[in-house]
Amino acid sequence: MATMKRVLATDIDGTLIGHGGEQAVRDYLLDHPELGVIYLTGRTLSNAHAIICRYGFPTPLAIATDVGADIFWGPNLEADELWAFEQRRNWSPRRLRSALGEISGVAYRGRSSHWRIAFELEDPSVLPLVKECLAEHHLLVRTLWYPDEARLDVLPCTALKSRALQYILQRIRVKSQNCFVAGDAENDGDMLASRYPGVLVANGEARVRECLPEWIVRSRYPGALGVLDALRQWLE
Ligand SMILES: [Mg+2]
Repeated sequence: MATMKRVLATDIDGTLIGHGGEQAVRDYLLDHPELGVIYLTGRTLSNAHAIICRYGFPTPLAIATDVGADIFWGPNLEADELWAFEQRRNWSPRRLRSALGEISGVAYRGRSSHWRIAFELEDPSVLPLVKECLAEHHLLVRTLWYPDEARLDVLPCTALKSRALQYILQRIRVKSQNCFVAGDAENDGDMLASRYPGVLVANGEARVRECLPEWIVRSRYPGALGVLDALRQWLE
């Protein structure tokens, strides 16, 4: 494992990609190999890795996938078994499916990974019933609601980018003030609201913006350009 003094911990979709400036941020990061890069994403490993390769982004120091449920160490992307073991303790997809199967208006939609189970909700008004049901069955999980697709994703309750990042930084002995975080959406909220310096890109969600500490840069640039601009200022 390489020793790094300072690191960028960044989300991928909507932050590094999707709003232009991808090549500029890639070139900058490749010119600054002394800055380690940690990716934290809702994607699965193969998905995230494909994107990193497609854009030519730097080899990860580590990648946290499925919103932090899994951690892989670069450059060979070895799974962190200790971390995976911790997630497994409270994770029972079978119990989850049978519990939510009792609610009408909730349909199982499939698994995009070991840690992410998707349900389709007929109507958003079913959402409170789902939460009640999860509590009744003592299912400790995290839910992410995607209203545009009427989709509810269920993950282990410990799947949080902030937790994964804290663990990664402890392992590589990088202090929180030397880690710059970047994100755009709800699943970055906990990471952006921790004690790290960082940036919310201009396309970031309004409800995330409202909950951020004052030292987080609210960039006027979207996506990669927002990351690049704020990162440069931080490094200088
Ligand atoms: Mg994002």
